[in-house]
Amino acid sequence: MPVLLLNPPSTTDLLPNREGTASFGAMSTGFLYPPHTLAVILAALREAEIDAGLVDAVGEEIGLEETIDRVRALQPDLLGVYASWGTLDVDKQAISALRAAFPQTPIVALGTGVRYNGEDLLAAGASHMLAGDPELAFARLASGPLPDPGIVKAHDLLPDEHNFAGLLRHPQRLPRPAWDAVPWQKYGFLTLFGSRGCDDNCAYCAYVRAQGRSHRQRPASDVVEEMLWLERSFGPRRVMARDPVFAAERSWAMDVAEGLIAANFHTPWECESRPEHFDPTLLKKLARAGCTTIKIGVESGDPEELVRIGRVEDARHAKTYLAYIHEVVAAAKRYGINVRAYVMVGLPDQTMDNIQNTAAYVRELRPTFFHPRPYVAYPRVILGEGLSEAETECLRRPLLDVQRDLATEYARQHAPLRRAWRKLLFAIPD
Ligand code: SF4
Repeated sequence: MPVLLLNPPSTTDLLPNREGTASFGAMSTGFLYPPHTLAVILAALREAEIDAGLVDAVGEEIGLEETIDRVRALQPDLLGVYASWGTLDVDKQAISALRAAFPQTPIVALGTGVRYNGEDLLAAGASHMLAGDPELAFARLASGPLPDPGIVKAHDLLPDEHNFAGLLRHPQRLPRPAWDAVPWQKYGFLTLFGSRGCDDNCAYCAYVRAQGRSHRQRPASDVVEEMLWLERSFGPRRVMARDPVFAAERSWAMDVAEGLIAANFHTPWECESRPEHFDPTLLKKLARAGCTTIKIGVESGDPEELVRIGRVEDARHAKTYLAYIHEVVAAAKRYGINVRAYVMVGLPDQTMDNIQNTAAYVRELRPTFFHPRPYVAYPRVILGEGLSEAETECLRRPLLDVQRDLATEYARQHAPLRRAWRKLLFAIPD
């Protein structure tokens, strides 16, 4: 086989989630996105009529030795190895094991979120590191003679398709992911991007560092078509839109929802956006279109902290922001949409007072699910380093109490429904 794409396995108890945080990646205890990027690269290789395959060692739950055996059996002339900033240690281990097993094979490390770690990956044994969005650039790299070993820039390979940072100018030109080559069922859902980037610039945000500070949308009709294609071709239990700000342009989100309603799309799906991007009318339409969950970054319930981290402009804005989120959560619940609300813990200079204010706010807000997430200073994020792990864990405790109480309330509210379903489906007595 001329070209093989590899999502390398973990060498620890944690799992590499290379798609996480807009492909900056993270080691995970459970939740994983399917390798969307590799599936699109494979589709681009097929379009270029390059014979290629994909081994998703994470999805297949195989270890490093078995992965190397699989690669050996396929005898690729070129290996593309997915890597990310948050999984760098296991990526380097996998690349060095591959280099030892295949001393003559060119190994191209790739991944949007690893573009600042090129030297590390070359030192581990990669012959090349593709810096920038790899979806189209890798197919170009694989279609000609390879350049000298070292860092290869996506912009140099396809300057019309990438800006100087190597980010795709026109995500609408990407082919649909080759999900047929991915064991996506293991992940439990499929993913889709309606847009990339964001016009905002919250100081803590990794998404704009990974995808750029310009919101680039695909036509709404293309997104609807892809959703329908996913439903008809693969029948996933749910679809997750991975846009950082799905509803940033309200008319576009409305068009997507109306297109799905008209086509009788019936797979549950979810999306994420700034809370202010939603409103009751849009939420009602999204619910009719099958959207079952929205994710919103509340980030903090403390007005002073919201200003400090660049989420809002000033104290007045913070007040209206926090009040408006109540309206969004109430409307979403009214239309049967679950709300996952996220806040950050371990932000620079964060105090227990900030946390107590956030805990009190979230208790009143009562989202369906609540996620207090440790802040991570991803590369080039404006806000810079946060608190230590120990400080973060200490601050997180009151928020975990809120999370537990909300989960208990959710379980109590849904217990009668679950019992009714169990009786109906399995004739199980109480
Ligand atoms: S709105 Fe969201 S995606 Fe945009 S900069 Fe802020 S945190 Fe990032």
